[in-house]
Amino acid sequence: MSLRHLFKFNGGVKPVTHKSESTRNPIGKAPLSAELVIPLHQSIGGTPRPLVQAGQQVLKGQIIGAADGNVSAAVHASTSGRIKTVEMRRMPHSSGLSALCVVIEPDGEEAWIEARPIAWKSLPPDEVRDIVRDLGVVGLGGAVFPSHLKMKGSSKTPTRYLVINGAECEPFITCDDMQMRERADGIVAGAMIIRHMLQAEQVLVGIEDNKPEAVAAMQAAVSKSGVTGVEVIAVPTRYPAGGAKQLIRVLTGIEVPHGARSTDHGVQCFNTGTAFSVHEALDLGRPLISRIVTVAGNVERPRNFEVPFGTPMRDVIALAGAKPDSDRIIMGGPMMGFVMPGDEVPVVKATNCILVGSPSLFPPPPPEMPCIRCGECSKACPADLQPFELYWYSKSKIFGKAQEYHLFDCIECGCCSYVCPSSIPLVDYYRFAKSEIWAREAEKAASDAARERYEFRQLREQREEEEKAARLAAKMAARKTAEAENPDGGRPKPDMGDLDDEKKALIAAAMERAKAQKESGATTEGNKE
Ligand code: SF4
Ligand code: SF4
Repeated sequence: MSLRHLFKFNGGVKPVTHKSESTRNPIGKAPLSAELVIPLHQSIGGTPRPLVQAGQQVLKGQIIGAADGNVSAAVHASTSGRIKTVEMRRMPHSSGLSALCVVIEPDGEEAWIEARPIAWKSLPPDEVRDIVRDLGVVGLGGAVFPSHLKMKGSSKTPTRYLVINGAECEPFITCDDMQMRERADGIVAGAMIIRHMLQAEQVLVGIEDNKPEAVAAMQAAVSKSGVTGVEVIAVPTRYPAGGAKQLIRVLTGIEVPHGARSTDHGVQCFNTGTAFSVHEALDLGRPLISRIVTVAGNVERPRNFEVPFGTPMRDVIALAGAKPDSDRIIMGGPMMGFVMPGDEVPVVKATNCILVGSPSLFPPPPPEMPCIRCGECSKACPADLQPFELYWYSKSKIFGKAQEYHLFDCIECGCCSYVCPSSIPLVDYYRFAKSEIWAREAEKAASDAARERYEFRQLREQREEEEKAARLAAKMAARKTAEAENPDGGRPKPDMGDLDDEKKALIAAAMERAKAQKESGATTEGNKE
């Protein structure tokens, strides 16, 4: 283990970790459910376009939704079977809103597509990134940011450090811990691919010091691989050490300023699970179709399971045995998680933990009291924000001010709410403010687009009118010129090419007569003046 000098991040808290319960058994394998409901939108960015329709047979790993643009990632069939329908289903989100899903009826064959390793070392980097996007790899630490976008370094600063984030600081969640213990070789292999893509000088693997088995397994995997420039570092257990900016600070001392990207400061950070998925995608040619999920809380047998995407959460909870007084399901941990609208919602790429709650495990908070401006929240904030100011401006809907106080640098870690003596659910206010700002921006963008469309149509109509007038004027001018050049009206002489000579002579004589008559008439008319 490395004895590297470590730095501290400001704030943070030390909640009870509840990690040992779900790490007693190895990772289990969740069986196939009767149907898999796979949402097309499973990452930040555009919603993939469905590529399948009801009745169609699919293979395991077959692409079923193509990435919509570059900020998006494809989705794939988690098993082989028949597409039952493509329809709106409820999402694993606290809003309870529905979104378009591909519903698969498994055939039980688990018949894979032909998966071929990718020669990533010899391919141009852009091509490798497109492959990563098309194999659906996204950040598995919770943010589900499309990984291919992060596999490109900054144009301004060379990448000095690649940080592999195995801190996993939130209580109850142990999926990264168990993956590091059991699949460390794959994580190291994935980290080497990412290092190659970023041309990073050094790889720092940060793991909280309450996971000694994971630290040892990763260290062994690094030694076995023979790679150099990779350090496995145990960092002090303090929530939220797994926040990207916090871990970067601890490992490198680099302070990423408000509103800035770590990439522009020479650091890029990937979760351990994401590194493993990059290895599976490029070394084995396998898309991301499942993940490790911790099932914990008010259950009889807390454990981690490898779960195919689309599996209903109730089926995964059944494997751990929910206790009778269970009253809610949280996706994520108790600090940053969201209460689910029902137990039928599917496991998706963002599902690191299914936490079952009960009134005794998570008692209702005391009633919210007024802020006494004690400043405890500021001391606890790892992002160096002023949480009570953010709270005040969010509650008063003065969103511009909330943004001035760096609302969007809030990582919603919940440390401020955790320490608040007035039991103010501060993060709820920040989430409300963020969603209002996004909604207003979306509304403004829509009205700007409508105005632009209207103005464009007006310009087009005006241009068409002008072109029409110009064409008419040109026609008139051409006619005048033609009349001036051909006083007989410019009428074309009949084509007599096909007539015989006698007929031609008769017609010519008739035309001569008509001309003579016209000229004598014109003279008579002229004499009258
Ligand atoms: S901890 Fe709570 S009461 Fe104290 S300043 Fe912050 S919001 Fe106000
Ligand atoms: S939730 Fe936001 S404001 Fe509160 S402590 Fe975390 S980063 Fe700071």
